Amino acid sequence: MKKEYIYLDYNATTPLRPEAWGIMRDILDTSHAYNASSIHHFGRKARKYIEDARVQVAKLVNADANQVIFNSGATEGNNTILLHFAKTYPDDTILIADGQHPSIMKSLAILDNIKTIPIDKGGIVNIKELETLLSNNKISLVSCSYASSETGSIQNVSELSDLTHKHGALLHCDATGAAGKIPLNIKESNIDFLTISSHKIGGPQGVGALIIGICGQSPALLFGGGQEKHMRAGTQNVAGIAGFGAASQAALESLNEYQKLGLLRTKLESKLKELSPDIIIHCKDIKRIPNTSFFSSPSINAQNILMALDLEGIAISSGSACSSGSVKPSRVLTAMGLDEKTASNSLRISMGWATKESDIKTFLSEWEKIIRRVTN
Ligand code: PMP
Repeated sequence: MKKEYIYLDYNATTPLRPEAWGIMRDILDTSHAYNASSIHHFGRKARKYIEDARVQVAKLVNADANQVIFNSGATEGNNTILLHFAKTYPDDTILIADGQHPSIMKSLAILDNIKTIPIDKGGIVNIKELETLLSNNKISLVSCSYASSETGSIQNVSELSDLTHKHGALLHCDATGAAGKIPLNIKESNIDFLTISSHKIGGPQGVGALIIGICGQSPALLFGGGQEKHMRAGTQNVAGIAGFGAASQAALESLNEYQKLGLLRTKLESKLKELSPDIIIHCKDIKRIPNTSFFSSPSINAQNILMALDLEGIAISSGSACSSGSVKPSRVLTAMGLDEKTASNSLRISMGWATKESDIKTFLSEWEKIIRRVTN
């Protein structure tokens, strides 16, 4: 009998949504070639795919289409913003919230004048510390993730935005972990730059967008052709962008339905606690994106459990995919003040639109068997 796999690692990447696959299949046909800069029929058709997608992606974050700059993903978006501010305001300091994705945190090793903003036990930016940093330094940019892909905790972005702007700086939010999971509104939250990634919402990998607020800045990392209003040179990935647009529309239309994953998570976490009473569920009392559960247990070895589940065809993750593979403790958990042992022994379940209640039941029954085996 064919083995059934259960995928519970949506925060690492997602399966393509059928809507994305449908439009990409049409574009990636062998009978035509689409370069959106060409003036002929095929070029016009390519531009139409891209401009339709721009409207769809804009709606996901309540922006206007002309605020959306397509790129290769959130790594590029985050790098673009940090490098732009480091180059444009070399004497000013950039503040980055601790515990973020490596495409932000590695700037500490590469760029000058970067400082971290501490986060509290729930992974939320410490507002008092931020205010002190803003008062005592000349800050050009504050960068913070909208929601953590690891713990799921959601920042109070409006508060961050008010404080940042009061001190004359601009706010960048990496919304990779939040887009398609909770409503986003760049206008209402008054965010200057948002970065998002297609493959986290059911679009293809290697595509993303930088969405520019009303700050009047035009950050550009790549130079060359005039694509994306000279803000992102390079032939546009027509199929990828169209797939991203279709996925954005599907994610927006199913946003209410998506919130039901929160109920499934409640069931999952209460059963986990019953089976493994020493389990610590991170950020349980914080506002979280509904699909994510991140936990540690002092009595288990997370890597062994991960492998045992994998043998049963169940895919979960230990912390973020970018740091798994190395045995380093989760950066966000250590930044939240957890000890190294607990932070190294963490597991993440992240569900998505195709997750069924039966997937969680199967996971829990395997968990019970494995725990019994490893603790006996
Ligand atoms: N930011 C966050 C919060 C992420 O989770 C990721 C992907 N792991 C990225 C940025 C990088 O996104 P991409 O894969 O599109 O480069």
